[in-house]
Amino acid sequence: MRTIGFCMFLIAMIHLQLIASPAKFELKTSDATLSIDPKGSMKIVQGKGENLRIEGSVFNLWKVVLKNTETRKEFTFTPGKELKLDQQDGVYRMTVSSFTAEGQVIPAVAEFTISVKADGFCFSGSIKTETPGWIIKEVNYPLMGGIRITGIETGIYWPVGLGEYHNNPELFGSRSLWYPAAKGCAMPWFSLNYPGGGLYVGDHDVTQENKVINLSYDKVTGTFSTGIDRPVYEATFQIPEVMIKPYTGEWYKAAKYYKTWYNKHFVQHSPPAWVKDDTGWLLAILKQQNMEVMWNYRDIDKLCDVADRFNLTTIGLFGWAVGGHDHLYPYYNPDNLMGGRKELMKAIERAHQRGKKIILYANGKIMDTSTDFYLYNGSEAMVKMENRQPEIQYYIKQKNATPVIFAQGCTGSPIWRKTMFDLGLQAVNLGADGILYDQMGVMTPQLCFSEDHDHIPGMSDTHNRNDMIREIRTAMRKINPGFIVMTEATNDAIIKEIDYHHGWGVGLAPGPNVFPELFRYTFPELISTQRNPNPMITRTDANFAAVMGLRHEVETRYAGDVAYLLQGKLPKPEDYSNVVSPPNLNKMNLLPAVEAEKYVHTLIGFENENAAFFRHGKFIAKDGIIVKGNDISANGFLNDNKIGVVVWNTHPGERKDFSVEVPGYHFLTAAEPGRRDVPEKSALDADSIRLLVFERD
Ligand SMILES: [Zn+2]
Repeated sequence: MRTIGFCMFLIAMIHLQLIASPAKFELKTSDATLSIDPKGSMKIVQGKGENLRIEGSVFNLWKVVLKNTETRKEFTFTPGKELKLDQQDGVYRMTVSSFTAEGQVIPAVAEFTISVKADGFCFSGSIKTETPGWIIKEVNYPLMGGIRITGIETGIYWPVGLGEYHNNPELFGSRSLWYPAAKGCAMPWFSLNYPGGGLYVGDHDVTQENKVINLSYDKVTGTFSTGIDRPVYEATFQIPEVMIKPYTGEWYKAAKYYKTWYNKHFVQHSPPAWVKDDTGWLLAILKQQNMEVMWNYRDIDKLCDVADRFNLTTIGLFGWAVGGHDHLYPYYNPDNLMGGRKELMKAIERAHQRGKKIILYANGKIMDTSTDFYLYNGSEAMVKMENRQPEIQYYIKQKNATPVIFAQGCTGSPIWRKTMFDLGLQAVNLGADGILYDQMGVMTPQLCFSEDHDHIPGMSDTHNRNDMIREIRTAMRKINPGFIVMTEATNDAIIKEIDYHHGWGVGLAPGPNVFPELFRYTFPELISTQRNPNPMITRTDANFAAVMGLRHEVETRYAGDVAYLLQGKLPKPEDYSNVVSPPNLNKMNLLPAVEAEKYVHTLIGFENENAAFFRHGKFIAKDGIIVKGNDISANGFLNDNKIGVVVWNTHPGERKDFSVEVPGYHFLTAAEPGRRDVPEKSALDADSIRLLVFERD
């Protein structure tokens, strides 16, 4: 063994002599050059580097964590003297033939590569441990520092929720996002921009496994650095391709670049036709966590009345089962107190006769630890953390209540998936039009160390979530072809399987830095409600949804909401004094209830009249559209040879002038909610929207 080891050492030494000083290495894309000098200094330069350049070293490009599964000791490695550099046929290779820690050689090999692929710089590689008892815990490659963007404005298009745009790198600071999750990273790419160009950084991982995307700005050096932490927990690992691509043009180019790759690997399924025409939903909690019943099953008729007043076509029933909302999950038996199973089925049928769709709630991720289910199935069904304990969450809806404690379920568990499947079956048999599995798109992946689940111990249930949804959707569609599966929030892993999303998180309502165009443009297939936890929608929130191509939402969750909706009673703080997350009373008190619902009704009617754009158009943001004007927000919807541009004057009190041009198209018509044939160029009233339709020349 010793002789072989020595020979290997000798060969390695000779090899090192041969390649220790490789000639200068260079790669080119249509926009940029990557070069590495014999000392390992790396540069990526766009053009002459006036706006975008990256300067670093191959000796700072990666980090690997190896773990001994018996001693549980972990060792972190970064490139050292043992790194061997080589280049051949346009591929730059950095190889490590052993890792040394605490004087001990850990038998593992790694290769990190740089090449050109799809007109971008591609960073990839592989790593494996060669002795049982050692695993790769984590890999981060490429760690890219020294990214310098210059220009009159540096923009950061950041994929949290539906998206954010930042134009102040110092305020952006340092951020990390778990993928895939609406609470974290909804799609694994971002773009750093200057006017006229940018840098695309995208993780092209066909496994869509969980990872953390990091980006930080150092105000001292004026440079960005980025990297992706990947949990691995296996003995061998193919490092997914990370694409670094300087480009000329606007951020749309980056979005298209990612989507082109995405479409090569994934198939987006299509929802039933009714979903595209849906106007939005009334979310109704029938019974609260404290067992207070606000709506019986017979009252679903009244909910249909409320939905009609707002022009909403779907009703989501939450807290509809025996335990009320966020209590006794995963038991969702129809409640005799509220009228029993038959009353519920009859009420759903009456809602259908009025043209309403009914969705039933189930939580796809958590189980109440006070249930028999947890007692008898918890160990099998739950996410097991590394210390074998459950991952605990608690939810509380009333200030004077004891929080309900939940353990997180793992969709890698066959018994959890079967439990969820049975809930889908119950929903379809009750006559519902769909089921919403809560938390599937929201929650960041939780690493699960169960050895009995259908995933590698130490990884998350990201894939199992999709497998479960697909299995349920396919089976239920055979019973009712119009049956849908919904979830709260979205990300680009779960979106493939979900018919309709209940909006949640960044970009579903107006707010600082929100830029929902980022996800909506990349995934125009998304059908999602806005998020509006109020029993009314303000004019501003309703207009925001219209211009972003989101469906509308009204929520009734508490007794104060019921009084508002049924009697028009404007709320006082004491109406919600015991409530943990009340609606926004300032918004509710802006105007009488009747007036609030009237505007939304008219707006939705306007969207329906122009369904070609609002329902069936492809969201194109402002790609190819020139919009001018202060306080103006606008986006285009493409349908065949026409583009409908929805323009919103976001100012609360002033009329605003604006202009819209679509090169290659000519103006056809302009209309506003309740007004047809509006002059194209007339000023737009405060907090109002207008649709301008253009036709291709
Ligand atoms: Zn698991």
